[in-house]
Amino acid sequence: MPCFFLANDKKGGILGSCIPLCVQKDFNSKHINTMEILHDKDADVSVLNGKTVAVIGYGAQGRAQALCMRDSGVHVIIGIRPGKSWDAAVQDGFEVMSVADAAKTADIIHILLPDEMHGSVYTEQIKPGLSAGKTLCCSHGFAYVFKTIEPPADVDVIMVAPKGPGTEVRRVFEEGFGCPGLIAVFQNPTGNAKNVALAMAKAEGLTRGGVLECTMQQETYEDLFGEQNVLCGGLVDLMKYGFETLIEAGYPAEMAYFECVHEAKLIVDIIYNKGIQAMNGVISNTAEFGEYYNGPQILGPEVKEKMKESLKRIESGEFARVWLAEAAAGAPNLLAKRAALAEHPVEVVGSKIRALFERN
Ligand code: NDP
Ligand code: MG
Repeated sequence: MPCFFLANDKKGGILGSCIPLCVQKDFNSKHINTMEILHDKDADVSVLNGKTVAVIGYGAQGRAQALCMRDSGVHVIIGIRPGKSWDAAVQDGFEVMSVADAAKTADIIHILLPDEMHGSVYTEQIKPGLSAGKTLCCSHGFAYVFKTIEPPADVDVIMVAPKGPGTEVRRVFEEGFGCPGLIAVFQNPTGNAKNVALAMAKAEGLTRGGVLECTMQQETYEDLFGEQNVLCGGLVDLMKYGFETLIEAGYPAEMAYFECVHEAKLIVDIIYNKGIQAMNGVISNTAEFGEYYNGPQILGPEVKEKMKESLKRIESGEFARVWLAEAAAGAPNLLAKRAALAEHPVEVVGSKIRALFERN
């Protein structure tokens, strides 16, 4: 239950009505688990000496991680189908081959394909190249947790997951630092799986940023939860509702875009760099009071109950079943939603506003 706060003025009178200023009374901090953060000193790239890492897929993550590992002295080859990504890997100077040949050649097979493709590519092209003592690696545990890949018991299975998009992984590495990341060990018949994961993380710069060791289940469930409830689903719906409410009330669309979409970056940048309190410190007192006054009225405790249901759908595998069936059918709903969004006024007006900020 939310606790309600009655604001008093200095003379003891009550200002306004009940204001839900503290909806988080039911948040139990006893549940907090903390983790050890691993750095460069905890990892040794020489574990990879004499080994070949095949990066399978050369998209956002594949390109960034392959380039960083190569710069750190790791022998990296690329397994990919002919096309745009193949051409990009050749252009970047890598030895490029089919997925099947790369899987056969390499000691460590780092699969960076779209999650919904892992199962079929693994079965047809990677599994035949596996032998005892090899390592399968990924950057998101979806395929192992939801069993689209069921690896043989005699190969190690690890995860090395940068916590950022590929462009960011590469940019921060080139600046001499590193994107933070996660590692996990799913299967460890050789006993060396964690050392290999840490070595890859270090070669990608992640131990400079800081690496947390988790389980594949924790990473998979938390990643899906975050993107479905806060970062993508959640944030996008909040922006669209705000924008639509102002438009339907007759306010100009361009202004609604500024208020409900554009300015989100300014707020999030401060939270990213310095935290929520610092963000509250730079907005006006009026804005900060509005946050406490209205936030819980828009996103009340019922939202947390819905989030708990979402977490259950993720943990039970229900979401994965729905998504894999959708992907297998050619993703008709995904494509329809994508097309509808392109027509939504928030995107149409948005492209006009964003053009104002383009610098050549
Ligand atoms: P992308 O979509 O950017 O890249 C996928 C790559 O796979 C492309 O090179 C594509 O090549 C190739 N590919 C697709 N299908 C096949 C196929 N049948 N055979 C061979 N190659 C194929 O994916 P991401 O880099 O975003 O994601 C890769 C993994 O990294 C996923 O597991 C994801 O969850 C994880 N991850 C992603 C993050 C992100 O921010 N994007 C963050 C952390 C982890 P082509 O050009 O030919 O289509
Ligand atoms: Mg994520």
